[in-house]
Amino acid sequence: MSLFREDLANLPSYVAGKPSTDPAIIKLSSNEMPFEPLPSIQAAITEGVGSLQEYPDMMAVKLRQRVAKFHGVDSDWVAVSNGSVNMIEKILDAACEPGDEVVCAWRSFESYPIATALAAALTIKVPVTDLGEHDLDAMAEAVTDKTAAIIVCSPNNPTGTAVTHADLARFLDRIDESIPVILDEAYIHFARMEDRVRSDELLAKHANLIVLRTFSKAYSLAGLRVGYALAHPATAETLRTVGTPFGVNALAQRAAIAALDATDKVVARTDDVVAERERVIAELADLGFAIPRSQANFMWFEMTNVEPFLAAAERHRIVVRAFVGDGVRVSIGTPEANDRIIAAAAEYAKSLR
Ligand SMILES: *Cc1c(COP(=O)(O)O)cnc(C)c1O
Repeated sequence: MSLFREDLANLPSYVAGKPSTDPAIIKLSSNEMPFEPLPSIQAAITEGVGSLQEYPDMMAVKLRQRVAKFHGVDSDWVAVSNGSVNMIEKILDAACEPGDEVVCAWRSFESYPIATALAAALTIKVPVTDLGEHDLDAMAEAVTDKTAAIIVCSPNNPTGTAVTHADLARFLDRIDESIPVILDEAYIHFARMEDRVRSDELLAKHANLIVLRTFSKAYSLAGLRVGYALAHPATAETLRTVGTPFGVNALAQRAAIAALDATDKVVARTDDVVAERERVIAELADLGFAIPRSQANFMWFEMTNVEPFLAAAERHRIVVRAFVGDGVRVSIGTPEANDRIIAAAAEYAKSLR
């Protein structure tokens, strides 16, 4: 007998990157930044500690205003959450009736099927292309009268590829405006591409679009748990209403404001990560690896048997994220960590010959 709904018995569980207590081991399994939070952000957090006896601002007015200014919209377009995974859960809970369908690419972010199941809905997984890209045409064709939401992850976790503005615009034109389309831009800060998605333009045009951003990746604040959604005011208002009361803690609100105030420095750090990404992928290409075009702070090694690669990574004391049967995702870290990945990959490639 279970205390919970029967349909949750087979819920897939989120596999977090393994923590390590050995300082010699480098963790490249959770797409974290290899830098600690900027000093100005740490100072903002420290400054807030003395007021922790008070509840945070429930409406997160200052943070929403700062986010709104950053995006050039009014603050009624903004809803904040305890990380963007929390926002995904809330959106699906609010959008789905039992038995409804949520369309997403696959592989994509492993939180999507879990949040979908929790909302008593079914995940419709549309395979990514051979290049690891979203097949937006196939996703549009997967829409039925049971579709309660669509999730587009760009850049996509774990394949790293991003959709273009033109392709996404064409996709949105095909989708009925009664279906929410969630655009998860957790890694957009690392995208350096032609025709990068201009979500502000798409938001102005499509009332069913919800854009998600997080402070967990580019801003080095994964431990603090804060993200936000941008959407038309009526949608954003619903997201604020269904949001967990006081869901974004007081330190996170302060830190997120300080993070947006430090945008130039944040961008410079993402530039460093991107430069390393390009260096590593070029070296891997020389070794014969065909890595999908990554626009994120990680890269995807597609392989059915992950064990030999994991063993090579372990010998070089790096922890990577395996998706058994599909491939391995490796985050871009410090130059030293990245050199280890190149060495491990070279060893693995040699073992295959
Ligand atoms: C890391 C990640 C997030 C961010 O999650 P938080 O809850 O904000 O830490 C969102 N979407 C994707 C695809 C991610 O990989």
